[in-house]
Amino acid sequence: MTPSDRLLLIAAGFFNGLRLVRLEDLSWENVQSERWKDEYPVCGRSHQSPINIDFQTVTEDYTMRPIQFIDYDEVPPGHLWRLENNGYTVKLSADFPCSPQLQGGSLHAKYSLVQIHFHWAHVDHYGSEHHLDGRRYPLEMHLVHLRRNKSAQERANDEIGYAVVAVFFELGNVANHQLTPITNALQLIQAAGTVRNVTLPDFTLKSILPHLPDFFRYNGSLTTPPCDVTVQWSVMRQPIRVNSNQLAAFRSLRAFHPDKSDNHTAAPFIKNNFRPVQELGGRKVLRYRSYAKYETDKINVESVAGRPHSTFFYLLFPMLILSTLSACTYQRP
Ligand SMILES: [Zn+2]
Repeated sequence: MTPSDRLLLIAAGFFNGLRLVRLEDLSWENVQSERWKDEYPVCGRSHQSPINIDFQTVTEDYTMRPIQFIDYDEVPPGHLWRLENNGYTVKLSADFPCSPQLQGGSLHAKYSLVQIHFHWAHVDHYGSEHHLDGRRYPLEMHLVHLRRNKSAQERANDEIGYAVVAVFFELGNVANHQLTPITNALQLIQAAGTVRNVTLPDFTLKSILPHLPDFFRYNGSLTTPPCDVTVQWSVMRQPIRVNSNQLAAFRSLRAFHPDKSDNHTAAPFIKNNFRPVQELGGRKVLRYRSYAKYETDKINVESVAGRPHSTFFYLLFPMLILSTLSACTYQRP
């Protein structure tokens, strides 16, 4: 990739194709992200992301249902995935015959998966964008979904244009074998601006989702410029494991060289590619908790004769339905 190639306009913040910025021209270190608002005023306004999710102030929402991850066990043709080092993070995407979809979970619409990417730091005790009751994790994955059948302009003007699922990783001693196909392939995209099509025969998105369906829900923004307030966030409660070698693979990726040199081995490593937490500003954070729902409904069952058991209806029944659907559950948008 030549320096002039690298000056091509790249969609900002991984997600947004409407307004274009040069990734190289942005200051990504978390301290410098304070300057984003100078060029992108929305970044300095309210209802921004990420946030700290304070357990004392979240609202249990007993009307919420689990998020349905439709076709998340799909694999692209030839198990071919696209990995990109965009100088700020690693993005994973694929051309699915049936795009994985989000439904349920009190989302306002159906959403199609666009890509996933990661946030990390150069140390183990922080790196995630969101904080969970003050706790920070070394790695956070974002599964970015676009509202189906809407134009880019409509999405930009719609506060629920995107649905992003955030998944935390916590440090363990044993490698997460479901993540290994990805971390092994990172060596192919060490230089910023590198895109590789890779065959990952043993990898599905479903394999890197938490088992527990519990999540937190709030409305917020993209965590990179232009920081549009258009994201319905679902932050999964249960972290999944990663070990230090796998974290090191993320930290081995290079950013663009400050002087635009093509010598990528002299370029700095990508580090601290997370935005600091933002003010909640009066927003409500809702909580879906499967155990709480079970306990509540168990009480109700005692007083409402004939009411079916909640675990079956809220958890097992949707799973049974999904398991009987065809391989391509929904038409692509
Ligand atoms: Zn992100």
